[in-house]
Amino acid sequence: MTTRTPLMAGNWKMNLNHLEAIAHVQKLAFALADKDYDAVEVAVLPPFTDLRSVQTLVDGDKLKIKYGAQDLSAHESGAYTGEISGAMLAKLKCTYVAVGHSERRQYHNESDELCNAKVKAAYQNGLTPILCVGEGLDVRKAGNQVAHTLAQLDGGLKDVPAEQAESVVIAYEPVWAIGTGEVATPEDAQEVCGAIRGRLAELYSQELADKVRIQYGGSVKSGNVAAIMAQPDVDGALVGGAALDSEEFVKIVRFRD
Ligand code: PEP
Repeated sequence: MTTRTPLMAGNWKMNLNHLEAIAHVQKLAFALADKDYDAVEVAVLPPFTDLRSVQTLVDGDKLKIKYGAQDLSAHESGAYTGEISGAMLAKLKCTYVAVGHSERRQYHNESDELCNAKVKAAYQNGLTPILCVGEGLDVRKAGNQVAHTLAQLDGGLKDVPAEQAESVVIAYEPVWAIGTGEVATPEDAQEVCGAIRGRLAELYSQELADKVRIQYGGSVKSGNVAAIMAQPDVDGALVGGAALDSEEFVKIVRFRD
């Protein structure tokens, strides 16, 4: 049986400047240093402007905390004012990059086609994409959450070869649960995460599907994380609001304690 190391990632969204970022990561590192937390991988996704500071801290203190960006450009370089390329993120030694977060899809009209180009741009630059998928409330009410989410998965991974896809992280984030305090039940999370793994097996192979980590995201907190993580196809959490409170995020990371 494949064992998947859980990935607990904090998506800071547009919060914490570079000085606040340093203080925050120091608190996380201090709180996690007294304990062997190798069994869980911890990552932060700060705003672009914080990445250099976080890199300096992580490199300088040899912290085990990984970091990445919340988005990247689909383009390699050129006249794309305001965009940040995968090569720039790789130069900052980012491990991860989120692609297709629902806030990008909603406020920046990001399509599955664009997300697919961004997934490919991430791989071209040696970054691991965290591909975010998930349904809105209307889709959930109509009972179409699985079909909707699998269509986003298919679109995001179109023509991505198995050698790359085996390292992808999928974040299942029902949009109605993001930042609303409305958490999906563990069974809701398992239903869709299980379906995602099934589709990965169809698209690639069971062996690949068994390797891929599937996170749940949507109002994860210390009080609900253990029940969600107990589901067989949930391999981590993408945490928004609760990741801004270092004590709370540490409790989430230590969900097994
Ligand atoms: C997110 O931003 O990906 C997220 C899940 O946010 P929250 O935890 O605040 O719902």
